[in-house]
Amino acid sequence: MTATLIDGTAFAATVREKVAAHVARLKEVQGVTPGLAVVLVGDDPASEVYVRSKGKQTVGVGMNSYEHRLPAETSETELLDLIARLNADKDVHGILVQLPLPSHLDESLVINAIDPAKDVDGFHISNVGRLGTGQKAMVPCTPLGCLMMLRDQLGNLSGLNAVVIGRSNIVGKPMAQLLLGDSCTVTIAHSRTKDLPDVARRADILVAAVGRPNFVQGDWIKPGATVIDVGINRIPAPEKGEGKTRLVGDVDFVAAREVAGAITPVPGGVGPMTIACLLANTLTACCRAHGFAEPE
Ligand code: NDP
Repeated sequence: MTATLIDGTAFAATVREKVAAHVARLKEVQGVTPGLAVVLVGDDPASEVYVRSKGKQTVGVGMNSYEHRLPAETSETELLDLIARLNADKDVHGILVQLPLPSHLDESLVINAIDPAKDVDGFHISNVGRLGTGQKAMVPCTPLGCLMMLRDQLGNLSGLNAVVIGRSNIVGKPMAQLLLGDSCTVTIAHSRTKDLPDVARRADILVAAVGRPNFVQGDWIKPGATVIDVGINRIPAPEKGEGKTRLVGDVDFVAAREVAGAITPVPGGVGPMTIACLLANTLTACCRAHGFAEPE
């Protein structure tokens, strides 16, 4: 059996189309344009790429994009001042501070300074608590994208065994909360988990968010399981030429594809869904701010 490929690129395009249609209606009927402010401190090359891509896609769905690029030596006070201004700005519905921040800045202090209603990354402590207690929250984009793909692939997730490998605050933990919210029986595995292959083999839904190339082996996967590979790892690719690299996930894709029922590729799986969900969150934040009906 060869697994169905879950096409995140195509799915993300449909999410963006829906967002764009909703934005167009908001502009026409209400005269409101959702706005996303992205703050980049320093010149980390990977962050530069993400910020550029976010700005382009924001404009692509008809929203306003506000980019704030600050030098690496920006002080905490300067950054907090900017966040306070963005919190007060009626044209800004979503605020994203690109992580990681330079080491002299306290990430948690900065994230918790964002108005929770504008926290489109869903990292503010109040959104984390709301998600954990089943209240309306801003949900972190990567796990939200994973959940959307799982629902699309499997329909009702109730009662399924889900194993999430990874317990980070940005992926593993919120992913587990979302699956619990959909009534899965959830196991969170991590670096201290005993007999990880056996734990993974119990999963109807296996989410890998580890950050280790090709870590999850084919024989860790229950036949027919749905596998979501969150990992983005760059490895040498001498076959493409000297010094060349390529992206792989946390799952040994070639082996897993022979066992799983469905699987996300890397690239082209979870990655594209993350920015699409950021746009969806910004639209939701805008609708909530104005008391408009929320997108489905
Ligand atoms: P973190 O490094 O914060 O967390 C990794 C998790 O994996 C930790 O909980 C760690 O356990 C666990 N882990 C590490 N080694 C093992 C092991 N040998 N066995 C079991 N568990 C292990 O990473 P992130 O959650 O931020 O990201 C995970 C991956 O997802 C990365 O490749 C990242 O690039 C990618 N990513 C992709 C995104 C996308 O848009 N597609 C967005 C965000 C991340 P412990 O806690 O015990 O140390």
